[in-house]
Amino acid sequence: MSRSTPKGEPHDWVTRAADDAIRHHEKSGAPGPVTCSSGASPSGPVHLGNLREFLMPHFVADELRRRGVPVRHLHVWDDYDRFRKVPVGVDPSYAEHIGRPLSAVPDPWDCHASWAEHFKEPLLDALHAMGIEMEEISQTERYRSGVYREEVLRAVRHRAEIDAVLSRHRTKKAEVTEATDDDHAAQEAEAMADSVAHEEDDAATEVGWFPFRPYCHDCGRDTTTVTAYDDATTDLAYTCSVCDYHGTTNLTTKDEGKLVWKADWPMRWAFEKVDFEPAGMDHATPGSSFTVGHELVESIWNMPRPAWFGYGFVGFAGVQKMSSSAGGAPTASDALRVLEPAILRWLYVRRQPKQTFDIDFGPEVVRLYDEWDALGRKAATKRDTAVLAYERAAATESYGPLPSPRVVVPFRMLASVADVTAGSAEQISRIIAHMGHAHDSVDDLEPRLSRAMAWTAEFVPASDRTTVRSEPDAARLAAMSDREREWVGLLLDGLDRLDGPELDLEPVTALVYGVPKLALGLALDDAPTDEVKADQKEFFGLLYRLLVDADRGPRLPTLIVALGTDRVRTLLGG
Ligand SMILES: [Zn+2]
Repeated sequence: MSRSTPKGEPHDWVTRAADDAIRHHEKSGAPGPVTCSSGASPSGPVHLGNLREFLMPHFVADELRRRGVPVRHLHVWDDYDRFRKVPVGVDPSYAEHIGRPLSAVPDPWDCHASWAEHFKEPLLDALHAMGIEMEEISQTERYRSGVYREEVLRAVRHRAEIDAVLSRHRTKKAEVTEATDDDHAAQEAEAMADSVAHEEDDAATEVGWFPFRPYCHDCGRDTTTVTAYDDATTDLAYTCSVCDYHGTTNLTTKDEGKLVWKADWPMRWAFEKVDFEPAGMDHATPGSSFTVGHELVESIWNMPRPAWFGYGFVGFAGVQKMSSSAGGAPTASDALRVLEPAILRWLYVRRQPKQTFDIDFGPEVVRLYDEWDALGRKAATKRDTAVLAYERAAATESYGPLPSPRVVVPFRMLASVADVTAGSAEQISRIIAHMGHAHDSVDDLEPRLSRAMAWTAEFVPASDRTTVRSEPDAARLAAMSDREREWVGLLLDGLDRLDGPELDLEPVTALVYGVPKLALGLALDDAPTDEVKADQKEFFGLLYRLLVDADRGPRLPTLIVALGTDRVRTLLGG
């Protein structure tokens, strides 16, 4: 089954992680497909930073599928984790649910079966749009159905050994924490941990460290203290500090709680036969549940630790206008309103996992699209690591090519036309056809066109947008010099000579740049002299003033084609 990449082919982090996953699979000797796993707690909106958790295993699984290796991307929903705090915007009465599993807390917006389901669905929609397919499991279902029962008993039997490992790591962690003074790293870790939100607290007990925490039989909360455990009968007695319930559960016959995080993670790796699972850099630190889990999976569950790497933080910029449900932090759905699905994938695959980066929704978007288009042209003729990243982003083995426009028009051109016309997709499509990009229908320009329209309307600050004058500037027109009058006259005559009511970009470009040449007795295609260049600058300034009441704006030929001869004539007083 180990099909590796032929020599001479480009390699990247995905290639190496896929090799590691295969090696782990062979070493563990587990039957079935190679398992690449991700995990997330559906406690809130999944922002673009947490999206990395889903994308890293996806790319590795896709690489294995390309090689013909049987593989699955297993996604674990930690929906049996406790509800920790009531977020801003939710009725404070929800505090009564703190301590209950996320799957048992009602949906405050009344649209899903639970809190957990409410946050799973929008993410799954976005992942689907990005060509990502996962085999999902719910920890609520896993625990409640009793499939983990044997593993719970194993952890409880070995609790003294587990506790000894944890103690050793606690000491190590304290030493490292003392020696580290890196505010930035700490902030990043906190930001990532915030939404991954794995429960790190140990269970409260009167019987020493205990790996299992019951959910109260009476009130459903995990505010329980283990008061006694009988190894022979596996009876576990507890009290609940909130409702004062005193109860007993039995670990062999009942399923009324879960392993604490540090035992839960290695148990799951072993039970689900995970070969590869990356982790945020905050988890890849001494004493973290991830690090401890790596040791426990080997010593308690007898499986070699899964292949892994730590991945860095993803931030964002230019989102002040974004009305995100994540409280300012944009989600995948937010990003997909502006970026083609393949481009969003590309942002994550082209970087080394440890590299941190920002996703910028400001002017950087235009450059990003240009870079992507250039890489697409390069991919047609050669293959290197950059092209490999392009291929991974543009298509997957099982989904096929991600949606991309049949006719590729530069994003900056679509955005400019959308800006100038503030018009419909049909109107923009008609104008684009006159700009050297022939196409049959609006559909040929999608999914890019609607993204250019959304970006222009929502992400370009009002001060950078173009407002075409509704009425001619009578005062400025009256104050024009003879020379300015001559330029305007030459431009309007020239436009009249261009055929029909709709203008083409190329002749309009020649005309706009050529008017000052004609005025000096030169021909349209003569090389510009210094005098011509100075006049062009002055002429363009006049046109911006008269057309859009500003000192600058989109390229003038684009502006004139978008406005059409009649509108230009009216505003230039012709
Ligand atoms: Zn209770």
